[in-house]
Amino acid sequence: MLCIGLEGTAHTAGIGISDETGTILANIAKNYFPKEGIHPRKAAEHHTSAFPELISEAIKKAGISFKDIDLISFSQGPGLAPCLKTTSTVARTLALSINKPLIGVNHCAAHVEIGKVKTGAKDPITLYVSGGNSQVIGETLGKYRVFGETLDIAIGNAIDKFARELDLGFPGGPVVEKEAKNGKYIPLPYTVKGMDFSFTGIVSDALRKKDAGASLKDLCFSFQETSFAMLTEVSERALSHTEKNELLLTGGVAANSRLKEMLEIMCNEREAKFYAVPREFAGDNGAMIAWQGIRMHKEGLKQDIQNTSVRPEWRVDD
Ligand code: AMP
Ligand code: MG
Repeated sequence: MLCIGLEGTAHTAGIGISDETGTILANIAKNYFPKEGIHPRKAAEHHTSAFPELISEAIKKAGISFKDIDLISFSQGPGLAPCLKTTSTVARTLALSINKPLIGVNHCAAHVEIGKVKTGAKDPITLYVSGGNSQVIGETLGKYRVFGETLDIAIGNAIDKFARELDLGFPGGPVVEKEAKNGKYIPLPYTVKGMDFSFTGIVSDALRKKDAGASLKDLCFSFQETSFAMLTEVSERALSHTEKNELLLTGGVAANSRLKEMLEIMCNEREAKFYAVPREFAGDNGAMIAWQGIRMHKEGLKQDIQNTSVRPEWRVDD
């Protein structure tokens, strides 16, 4: 069985093709990364023009034809409404034109599940860190639960904001990581409340310290050390509360080597296994949507095409 998945919640228009074992036959994307940050309508327009070509290219890359596709899945939410609408419209059109079932999937659950199938993690606590989301997720009693999450902006967004103010370009993550290599530690606000965390205080304080003369490399280093320590603390407490012994790192920020290192140290200390999603599946991608479509279909979930309107606020624990 083959599923073609359409990802389009924010800046990425992605197409993936998965079989029923999670083998990915194609995974391609076009990104809308303007320097000034994402504009929802412009992102949707970007996706409108990107999808037709991406779909044909993915089919070609997979070495299949449209008649080999058994299922179409798309990112139904959460995300930016204009982007979701474009993506769902393309998915519906494709489903109607090749006369195959359509299924809307939760973008956050897709990040978790591609991480599991690609790493072999069975029942992890997942630290899902991206441009739009930061959550600590685990499954109990057959449901995804959010054990901790950001009280304001996502860690990826915080890094991007900080980088944009310093003219480091967008997305900021890779540049900040590079700059952080030889920095010294300057204290920044460390905000963990119960199981939740907050990042806006770090951004404002880092920018204040920049104006007061702190060096770029010290600020990048300290930004990473402080925010990643917060994420590590909450992930550890979730492992402890649930008595799970696997931690999975997923989402675009999972590309960061220092974050992986800190989480790995914590896991080693408590004899838990640490898994990080492979880089190609870390950021938003169509493959994860295709794989989650297969999983839902295998569970017998079906959707009428009339019932596929977008869900911009869809929580993973809903
Ligand atoms: P996503 O929303 O999952 O596509 O992930 C995009 C986010 O990942 C953006 O906020 C990027 O700045 C961030 N990101 C990408 N690479 C890195 C990195 N090496 N370190 C930290 N953040 C990163
Ligand atoms: Mg994402």
